[in-house]
Amino acid sequence: MIPTPPLPQVVRLDCIVCDKSYDPADVDYTCPDHGAVGSLDVVYDYDYVAANLNSDEYSMWRFGPLLPVGEDSPKPPLQIGWTPLYQRAEHAKALGLKNLWVKDDSRLPTASFKDRASAIAVVKGREKQAEFIATASTGNAAAALSGVAASVGQPNVIFVPQSAPEAKVAQLLAFGSRVMLVKGSYDQAFDLCMEACDRFGWYNRNTGVNPYMTEGKKTSMLEIATQLDGEMPDAIVVSVGDGCIIGGFHKGLRDLAALGQAGDPPRLIGVQSEGSRYLVDAFENEEDVVDKPPAPADTVADSISAGLPRDRIKAMNAVKQTGGAFIAVPDDEILAAIPAMARSTGVFSEPASAAAYAGMLSAIERGLLTKEDRVVLIATGSGLKDVPAAMRAVQAEGTTPRVVEPSLEAVEAALGS
Ligand SMILES: *Cc1c(COP(=O)(O)O)cnc(C)c1O
Ligand SMILES: [Zn+2]
Repeated sequence: MIPTPPLPQVVRLDCIVCDKSYDPADVDYTCPDHGAVGSLDVVYDYDYVAANLNSDEYSMWRFGPLLPVGEDSPKPPLQIGWTPLYQRAEHAKALGLKNLWVKDDSRLPTASFKDRASAIAVVKGREKQAEFIATASTGNAAAALSGVAASVGQPNVIFVPQSAPEAKVAQLLAFGSRVMLVKGSYDQAFDLCMEACDRFGWYNRNTGVNPYMTEGKKTSMLEIATQLDGEMPDAIVVSVGDGCIIGGFHKGLRDLAALGQAGDPPRLIGVQSEGSRYLVDAFENEEDVVDKPPAPADTVADSISAGLPRDRIKAMNAVKQTGGAFIAVPDDEILAAIPAMARSTGVFSEPASAAAYAGMLSAIERGLLTKEDRVVLIATGSGLKDVPAAMRAVQAEGTTPRVVEPSLEAVEAALGS
């Protein structure tokens, strides 16, 4: 790989643990003094950005000058970003909210939010002339890297736990990645991928380690601000595993503030599963996440199953600095949220995505969200990613199809019953 080429919009990389700064040409991943916990924050020249932001493109690349990639670097041909923001005013009223929108990032090309980050990884990897780009993932970041890489013919290596849902593994194989199914947890797959990147010199996309993933993820926030004409919502509800997405929303808000476009920033509400509640515990007990040890991670919402959230510092800052909260919801509520969210919004979610809906209901119940609040709910992954979970959810509530003979009489009889 060659050193990261300089960019006019990127000034430096700041360690989020200490006060050291680095030149992107010298450091690719984390603060050398702090190792994996020392994630770096990309600092922009906002005068340059303000002077150059004027794209009418309808994709994440419309924010080009606010992204850490070269203006002339080839972008993947897939349509990434500018996902719909659906207003659900009636449903908001029924829930006791002032208004509600669903930002449907399950509509991205590989059907999860992760495409925004992987797009940046692929552009950066190619700027660096990386032979391979690698990532560990619970499944969606992998599918995203795999799909975006396929669109430009970029070789890549993927580490996912063997337990990853079949649809996600099918995506990886169809896109032609080199796939390592790791006999272990996501956390183990992550550590193995880190070692392999070190040993083989691959470009490392791993969340929390690669400073540029937050930058891709922030584009969802920038789009929401644009789609709502600068009328910021009062709260954003999003599910949290490693914490990169919620950290990305916070970064988007900080960018908008630096550009004088923020208004009153929304509270960021992060939702975890009771089975993987590292950040909820740290938030409730005011623990320091820099050295808090890993916690158990076992949940039906595989995409937010993270024993040691790799972007935990950015995630905690996001919630604390916006006056938000972390809350946990049990797996049965996550499953029940799949049909509940599908019926009330028209968006079919995988468990980790439905967790945000379950978290929103719980936040309303706890008084964290009220009838004063205009809320944006983030749909992060498609229900087609995990069909068995959706089937369990509808079976648990007793919803069954009517199996009929191919005759009208049978239909009438079924309707009567
Ligand atoms: C990755 C993912 C999340 C959580 O994002 P983090 O950055 O890991 O916090 C939520 N939902 C889905 C569907 C995901 O794939
Ligand atoms: Zn540091």
